[in-house]
Amino acid sequence: MISVEELRKTYGKVDALAGVTFGVDAGEFVAVMGPSGSGKSTLLQCVAGLERPTSGRVSLAGVEVGELDETGLAALRRERLGFVFQAYNLLPALDVADNITLPLRLARRPIDRGRAAEVAARVGLADRLGHRPAELSGGQQQRVALARALVTEPEVIFADEPTGALDTRSARQVLELLHELVDQSRQTIVMVTHDPVAAAYAHRVIFLADGRLAGRLDAPSPELVAERMTKLGEW
Ligand code: ADP
Ligand code: MG
Repeated sequence: MISVEELRKTYGKVDALAGVTFGVDAGEFVAVMGPSGSGKSTLLQCVAGLERPTSGRVSLAGVEVGELDETGLAALRRERLGFVFQAYNLLPALDVADNITLPLRLARRPIDRGRAAEVAARVGLADRLGHRPAELSGGQQQRVALARALVTEPEVIFADEPTGALDTRSARQVLELLHELVDQSRQTIVMVTHDPVAAAYAHRVIFLADGRLAGRLDAPSPELVAERMTKLGEW
């Protein structure tokens, strides 16, 4: 589903990514871990077509991302990818149903309230369709953001610290939903996190340090992830 070769991204004199190569299979849930400033967000943004790499190659759902112009990139993101960030980025004036269907509106696809209800139910918010974001807890808002990412049935979901702003219980709910999507629908997910507990929900963890790959861990547990992070100099 994703193939990344020798990806580099330079900001001035900073090598945010210094040549990263990895792949993700369809239906795989991969976590990207690393200390603050190790290049996790830059990696996600370059892979997901939100940023242009300085060099290297990204192939995503059969598309050579580097060959797309801005219009093609925007269409790829809008139609085939889903995004969840630490900040929920919901539109405060819209209710839950309209926030969820926003990607359909932007893609000029038919807006189907039934579809909104179905996706809302999937994230446990069937009874909140008419509520505004301000009337919801942080965890509920993040679940709306997840529903919004799911509404177009994206091939890959990219999440950057999706639980970074949540309390332990809400974080666990969001992580369990992600895990369920992988188990039940073979959703492909790439999640950036610095939390070993969050990373342990993935099938596989890849570690970044100073913009380079610094190992991988299959079938991760929070303890094993934390131990690796200690070796990378974090904590
Ligand atoms: P992480 O998500 O692991 O904390 P980032 O990918 O955000 O790390 O950043 C990696 C490095 O690239 C850092 O040194 C950061 O300061 C730098 N960096 C990231 N984005 C920019 C930018 N837009 N302009 C300049 N430097 C940046
Ligand atoms: Mg980051």
